Amino acid sequence: MRSYIKVLSMCFFGLILFVPIALADNSVKRVGGNSRYGTAVEISKQTYSTASTAVIVSGNAYADAIVAAPLAYQKNAPLLYTTTDKLSYETKTRLKDMRTKNVIIVGGTPVVSSNTANQIKRMGISIKRIAGSNRFETSARVAKAMTAPSKVIILNGFLYEDAPAIIPYAAKNGFPILFTNKTYINSATTAVIKDKKIRSSIIVGSTKSISNSVNKKLPSPTRISGSNRYELAANIVQKLNLSTSKVYVSNGYSYSDAIVGALLAAMNKQSLIVTDGQNLSVGTRKIIGSENASNFTVIGTPPAISTKVFNQLKNPVVGETIFIDPGHGDQDSGAVANGLLEKEINLDIAKRVNMKLNASGALSVMSRSNDTFYSLQERVSKAASTQADLFISIHGNANDSSSPNGSETFYDTTYQATKSKRLADQIQPKLATYLKTRNRGVKRAGFYVIKYSRMPSVLVETAFITNSSDASKLKQSVYKDKAAQAIYDGTVSYYK
Ligand SMILES: [Zn+2]
Repeated sequence: MRSYIKVLSMCFFGLILFVPIALADNSVKRVGGNSRYGTAVEISKQTYSTASTAVIVSGNAYADAIVAAPLAYQKNAPLLYTTTDKLSYETKTRLKDMRTKNVIIVGGTPVVSSNTANQIKRMGISIKRIAGSNRFETSARVAKAMTAPSKVIILNGFLYEDAPAIIPYAAKNGFPILFTNKTYINSATTAVIKDKKIRSSIIVGSTKSISNSVNKKLPSPTRISGSNRYELAANIVQKLNLSTSKVYVSNGYSYSDAIVGALLAAMNKQSLIVTDGQNLSVGTRKIIGSENASNFTVIGTPPAISTKVFNQLKNPVVGETIFIDPGHGDQDSGAVANGLLEKEINLDIAKRVNMKLNASGALSVMSRSNDTFYSLQERVSKAASTQADLFISIHGNANDSSSPNGSETFYDTTYQATKSKRLADQIQPKLATYLKTRNRGVKRAGFYVIKYSRMPSVLVETAFITNSSDASKLKQSVYKDKAAQAIYDGTVSYYK
């Protein structure tokens, strides 16, 4: 009996130990359909099984969709797209499935035709249309239809790129989105601000989108801007302190996906960030890193968000700033033996690590990317100023005798002793295994760069330049790549 309990409890502890390792990748889920219409339908399924009211806009009228999103939220209604002249098949099916009784069409007949409206009516659904003669009037009329807003969001009516990330905040708080021209505010916009007794406003976008001349026409305006759409989205999340426990990610150019994705984010009280669909943008990586985000829902199917981006989000190094320090440089060659200059080997391997990390969604920074000399102190302060999360110094080993050989990894205990050792413990065995070198183990040493760097830091001695067998490996690209792969894989498992 006792042994039975012992076995059982061992199994139990085994499970506890095993599960976190198995779940160590970031969580990434994809929601999308075969078209913008299908994607809106799939998104509606995330929130609704039935919906008495739905909001419908043209799949090509982004301005209408942007202002319709906060309205849809307030009406507890999904936002669906249609083609102009005919109700899209996916949307029609979805309206039936949700047993929808009321549809609010946002946009005039040039974008959602009377024929389309009649098709909806023939399904036994009653219709209300909110439209003006232009996008400014439509946005003002949607704002009028919203309940007691205290604040408004101001966007350039012709630049959709500024809109997606603000939608979750606008929707959740019941703030209408109103449009302006770049240098002057349309009278429809100022009229609704007055009618609704709006007391404050947020201008979204840089002065390239909306110039400062519009400020004086707005009630106590504040501005959120960014140098590009990715950074703007990140700044919105940060400045408005939006939740990132689950982050929605959309292509910054696929407005139709981004708008319905933003509404889904709002429904879940979360944020939406936008990115390049082929490779995570720098601004996106930064916000992921600073928020420590690890749970993502991507909006849309490839190519809107590629498998590469999906996998970058999944990788636990995503958004981490990793400082790669190839030892020596210029007049300081490091070890010289067997026809090798250590500085060249270090740089070659470091460049490969840098490439692997960048391809995985990390933000890697190199102390040097060419044959330049920097002092040890300069390397440490550069890592500090880039606010690096990890410091990895790459060296080749040397000895007066040609017999010592193998790989070893050093850490120091001045700062971050535990984490530095953990990183060394992850890199070192992989290095020896991949390079088929002698495993000299993880060691403690107060080398300057790892002693004075305040983030977790290690110094990797890939192999001995002074040993002919080790050196013959360091001469080959395939082994230099293996060394880089070991450092990269060790870094990834450190984050797991
Ligand atoms: Zn060295």
